[in-house]
Amino acid sequence: MFHLEEIKKVLQAEQKFRLRQALKAIYQQGIESWDELSVFSKDLREKLKKDISLEIKAKSYETSDKKTIKVVFDFGKNIEAVLMCHQGRNTVCVSTQIGCSMACDFCYSGKFGLERNLSEDEIILQVLYFNRLLKKENSRVSNVVFMGMGEPFANYNNVLGAIKILNDKELFNIGARHISVSTSGLVPGIKKLAKEKLQINLSVSLHASSDEVRDKIMPINKTYNIDTLLEATRNYIKQTRRRVMIEYVMLAGINDSPKDANELTKLLKEKLGDLFFVNIIKYNSTGEYESSPKNKIEVFKRILIDEGIDVVERYRFGKDIKAACGQLAKEENKK
Ligand code: SAH
Repeated sequence: MFHLEEIKKVLQAEQKFRLRQALKAIYQQGIESWDELSVFSKDLREKLKKDISLEIKAKSYETSDKKTIKVVFDFGKNIEAVLMCHQGRNTVCVSTQIGCSMACDFCYSGKFGLERNLSEDEIILQVLYFNRLLKKENSRVSNVVFMGMGEPFANYNNVLGAIKILNDKELFNIGARHISVSTSGLVPGIKKLAKEKLQINLSVSLHASSDEVRDKIMPINKTYNIDTLLEATRNYIKQTRRRVMIEYVMLAGINDSPKDANELTKLLKEKLGDLFFVNIIKYNSTGEYESSPKNKIEVFKRILIDEGIDVVERYRFGKDIKAACGQLAKEENKK
């Protein structure tokens, strides 16, 4: 697989604009062979062909309804990304790390610790792969969510670098408002992002309304508790005027009672004001916990809505291809 640094090296001796041309051809046009880069001389194309392969090594799995495609990339170890085609949008969910160090108790990716951060290139390649696929249907990736394997803010610089390339009008041209970053609650990352003056969306994985529960399911809460997290979130809202998404995964018997819903309502209103909405996530069970039953989710949602809170429920993608965080890549790694 190619790396931007390698391309830079080969084009070092050329005029400066050649690199930009190459990047535009790869990221915007989606060329899959250097032969397609007709503005380059034959000699230069041959040189690039010799040194750099544009192939992306990956294996894809499609759901029966073809709305979801999950791809496992071979970056030494396997990582995964998912394309979801829904309501006219082509959303790619990308991974930012191989494994994860956050160790959230309910999450499959956290079970095996952190292997390493993904590079900026490796993050970009996940989106590029789907753009190549969609190009065949005269379409392209419209939205990117950093909600795959890994904690984006634990790999801050590479994630930000990737976001800038995705957002670049001459490269991927994905609007900032169509890019979302989700964090388990790394407060320094939230503070840093607030200063970037980007119009991207922030999602916060809260998943509990008390420190008692959050301490149990998300170890990060022992470093940055709910108060600290929501204060940073409130400041983020104040600084960016962007509406933040609060994620809440419904775990049976853990955080899904009407009491939890009332406490969550009170907490969010008190700490965040009104520029937020709640995303209720149906848990994709990976063993340890059970997903809350449908009627409990409905009651929970109703309490929030009746209190005037905007609620969305994440559309359930790709159950039959193990679209829960980290599941498929792990199985591929075992083989
Ligand atoms: N580390 C980041 C982003 C990756 S996970 C974060 O924690 O926000 C994206 C979202 O999926 C998070 O809210 C996470 O808590 C949730 N999640 C993890 N495992 C899940 C599962 N099995 N079913 C449903 N949601 C899950």
